[in-house]
Amino acid sequence: MMSAFWDKQIERADYLRAQSSGSKELLAFYAQLLRAQKNVYESFRSRKNWLPSGDLERDLDVVMSSTPGLLQTVSLHGPESLAAEAQAISAAEPETMADALQEYWRSPSDTQFFAKSILQPYLRWLAETRTPPIDRELAGGERTCPFCGGAPQLSFLVSKESSAESGNRDLSCAACLSSWEFRRVVCANCGEERPAKLGYFHSPEFDHVRIEACDSCRHYLKGIDLTRLGLAVPSVDEIYAAPLDLWAREHGYTKIELNLVGL
Ligand SMILES: [Zn+2]
Ligand SMILES: [Zn+2]
Repeated sequence: MMSAFWDKQIERADYLRAQSSGSKELLAFYAQLLRAQKNVYESFRSRKNWLPSGDLERDLDVVMSSTPGLLQTVSLHGPESLAAEAQAISAAEPETMADALQEYWRSPSDTQFFAKSILQPYLRWLAETRTPPIDRELAGGERTCPFCGGAPQLSFLVSKESSAESGNRDLSCAACLSSWEFRRVVCANCGEERPAKLGYFHSPEFDHVRIEACDSCRHYLKGIDLTRLGLAVPSVDEIYAAPLDLWAREHGYTKIELNLVGL
């Protein structure tokens, strides 16, 4: 049952990578990565007599035991540089990976690809079992995930019955993959509220995806409009619309949090 979360994303990535527009190679890799992450997640869930403690140091052996499969997937299907890195980590002492996991745990960064890929399913499992992560010193505040303190990966608009508005805006956490409600016209990075400072860009090719940029802090993220396309899966459609990131970069904006394919 709980695997539905991963299956939905895998199916969407498989579907979109066969489409003409968007970034086929990135999606093909992401589809494989999602499968590896699902396996990591399943390995935690299916473990007999074990529940996560929320303390990575205590759970480290279990988390480490799930890493070889993901490293192998990346070395087989990843872009050249990541594949080489996966092979190097596999050949190195286990401490290399353990250190990377603990570093990401304490201060997450979107450039720590392997730690982020492996800890996403772990944090997801913590969120589902309502086990708060401990021993982390993260910023907090309404612009970070209320569960784990992670940065926003993307935003999405979704219809909620309770609201008379055309859609509510939620932010999705880059670390534990849960989402939280956020105000609609506010920069998710610096909190800027003046409409004149907030810009939107979209191209007809990706009708349900837009760049949400802020001219005060020069950061952006992508917004996925599920009221326009209910079939979309935000984390996957965000990668599908990779050409929009190029536009944002060319216009001098920095992404709040890079996604797992590095855009
Ligand atoms: Zn989170
Ligand atoms: Zn801003």
